[in-house]
Amino acid sequence: MLIGVVAIQGDFAEHIEMLQRLGVGAKKVRLPQDLEGIDGVIIPGGESTTLGIVGSRYGLLDALRERILDGLPVFGTCAGAIVLAKTILESDQPRIGVMDIVVNRNAYGRQKDSFEADIFVPKLGEVPVRGVFIRAPVIEAVGEGVEVLAELDGKPVFVRQGNTIATTFHPELTDDTRIHRYFLRICQKA
Ligand code: GLN
Repeated sequence: MLIGVVAIQGDFAEHIEMLQRLGVGAKKVRLPQDLEGIDGVIIPGGESTTLGIVGSRYGLLDALRERILDGLPVFGTCAGAIVLAKTILESDQPRIGVMDIVVNRNAYGRQKDSFEADIFVPKLGEVPVRGVFIRAPVIEAVGEGVEVLAELDGKPVFVRQGNTIATTFHPELTDDTRIHRYFLRICQKA
């Protein structure tokens, strides 16, 4: 299996490391042609506006949208979740826009710019995952086809729509591989 990791900006190196630990091939994706031969793609955390502006200049956002709508599994973390969202409150920044979610950037506010919390994910067993939230967006609403896999304070923090999953936190910054393995199972089935 070969997983593409969008390597324009942000913490793509941590995702690649995670995939290597799991014995899975990782390929850096910057241009549309880099999408060839991959079984799934990860969009890392970082800065969603930079990701969007550079990604649209490279033609990568359009190419990704096309492949994702065609069934390519995708996993977005934090900024990656933002660029996957159809609706970003008070922003017209470039995006892929394939997920029926409404996100509010930096909505946890300055005080709590960064924090950690235990996140219970029923699908992944009884032991919670440690959620690392860094200037994280809040998912304010989800559409009908979106499954909420985990919540924090009543707001979704891990969602799935078909072969697309997104977390507002950063599992790649922990040693817990369960969410990446969950994504790899989606890729295997696709
Ligand atoms: N707040 C950032 C954004 O809007 C996301 C932060 C992150 O990915 N850790 O893009």
